[in-house]
Amino acid sequence: MSVTKDKLIFSSVTAIGSMPNKYPKRREVAIGKVVIGGDNSVAIQSMTTTDTFDVDATLAEIRRLEDAGCELIRVSVPDKRSADALPAIKKQMRVPLIADIHFHPEMALAAIEAGVNKVRLNPGNIVSEWRLEPVAKELVKRGIPVRVGVNSGSIAYDLQPLYREDPVAAIVQSAHRYVEILESYGIKNIVVSLKSSDVPVTVECYRRYAAESDYPLHIGITEAGPGIIGSARSALGIGLLLAEGIGDTIRASLASDVVDEVVICKEILSSLGVRKFPRIIACPTCARVEFDLIKMTNEILGEVISLNTPISVAVMGCAVNGPGEAEDADVGIMAAAGKFVVFRKGKITRKDLTLEEAREALREEIRIAEEEFRKENPNSS
Ligand code: SF4
Repeated sequence: MSVTKDKLIFSSVTAIGSMPNKYPKRREVAIGKVVIGGDNSVAIQSMTTTDTFDVDATLAEIRRLEDAGCELIRVSVPDKRSADALPAIKKQMRVPLIADIHFHPEMALAAIEAGVNKVRLNPGNIVSEWRLEPVAKELVKRGIPVRVGVNSGSIAYDLQPLYREDPVAAIVQSAHRYVEILESYGIKNIVVSLKSSDVPVTVECYRRYAAESDYPLHIGITEAGPGIIGSARSALGIGLLLAEGIGDTIRASLASDVVDEVVICKEILSSLGVRKFPRIIACPTCARVEFDLIKMTNEILGEVISLNTPISVAVMGCAVNGPGEAEDADVGIMAAAGKFVVFRKGKITRKDLTLEEAREALREEIRIAEEEFRKENPNSS
């Protein structure tokens, strides 16, 4: 039966906040040191935008992603130059490396040889079994996991008539078919994704596949779009799925700076209560605002996102809502009659500050709040 978008939207909306997870528990798959599936945390993934063969540029972007809290990083391997760069990149990474392969099984073989922690294959463009077999054998031999990354834009030729009639059925069938081929070679460490740029179609693909299989799922909306548009689509699609218990790794595929992808993923996870991350609260500003709050909030966000403790930091433009909102946060800053006030855990710790003094005082209060959190939570990483 084909599913119309209206039905999908309706069923998505009614599923928000749905309680028990009705899907089978996922198998565990280890991607280097990051284990997904089972009861493990949902991991954040992103992908570099540099030429992979430019080792310095790629490592610089990887470093920014790692510092922001990205837990799995994928690089595309479109050619031999890129494959040749993988050993140098891998050697200097703190998080597992995933090779993204399209069209060229020989690039997958080179990536495996370079020691990557996972390979992503697209069933739409490495179709023939004779091309897949050598890769599958190496994956089995070395125990490297593979992601079957189905993408609505590259559905296999023979499934395209079905795709036009029922995109969800074609995407899900494509995943099942490729997984069965990989299983026939003895591959057990499989992760699956079923992405479309259409939110309702993507959500329904994951729902259906999650009910029919227990492989862990990498979720996201593909080609989600630029900054705020892509963030909204990603938050909606990923959020709906996570709310139903679907999703073991997530990526917000934005046409934006890579670090934005990590920020959005963290916010989705913490807003849903799936994981805890540092949080920033800021008033939307109005005619009462007494300083350039948007600029300051962005500066503070850059610092807060790298913290290892899930503290909340408030930036408030004036005293109208300022004290109440800031007192809810672990740490807060507020403008009041041309001066600044800093709070920690609901108590004013510094007042009558200039903007520069307030900025420094806030950093100090963040350090103290972090120390207090670590004392209270000695087992937190
Ligand atoms: Fe306006 Fe003050 Fe509210 Fe910010 S806190 S939106 S400046 S009234």
